[in-house]
Amino acid sequence: MVDSFYQCPLCGFTGELLTFRGRLHAQCPQCRSLERHRLQYAVLMQVFARWSPAGKAALHFAPEASFKALFARTFLHYETADLAAKDVDHQVDLQRLPFADQSYDFVFASHVLEHVADDQQAISEIRRILRPDGIAILPVPVVVEKTIEFSEPNPLQDYHVRAPGLDYYERYQTRFSRVETYSSCDVDAACQPFIYVNTDCDSPLRVDGAKLRDLVPVCYV
Ligand SMILES: [Zn+2]
Repeated sequence: MVDSFYQCPLCGFTGELLTFRGRLHAQCPQCRSLERHRLQYAVLMQVFARWSPAGKAALHFAPEASFKALFARTFLHYETADLAAKDVDHQVDLQRLPFADQSYDFVFASHVLEHVADDQQAISEIRRILRPDGIAILPVPVVVEKTIEFSEPNPLQDYHVRAPGLDYYERYQTRFSRVETYSSCDVDAACQPFIYVNTDCDSPLRVDGAKLRDLVPVCYV
């Protein structure tokens, strides 16, 4: 495959992707999807092939435009939620969800938990509202080897309250029976699921001199 010819699985675009915030081959010029969206989409297709979403209920936190249409047509019931945004079905705090136990089959919250102070409570809440056959997909930006907790939102790191490490997804294992973690190396490289970096860094997710892999954890009740 030539570097400059990729296929966006979300919208069908083929060709070169745009540089975004200094990251090469990052953004689809047609649907604006980023590396993580294309990776997550590819993982969702693998998950849905084994776990049918037909007839099920989904709750989507901090809903990205990239996935709204997909979830709305895939699930029987689809609802959105956010702490601050107004254009969602539920304006709620992940640490205190106003939903009954076992209300949903699927929860998707990407790049959310690194903003939540009591993430253990949020993970418990997500587990509580899921039905016995439910799934939660909860990716965060893994940036270090070992997770670092900040005492307050860090303005130098997009106001995250922690820098998640490679060990972060272990927190899901205490609440869920099984966690499968997919990486950029597990999907078709044509969708360009890697994070290209043009500076030297010692990320534990480095694949080669140019790029990092990203991770998508799938948590089973
Ligand atoms: Zn696209």
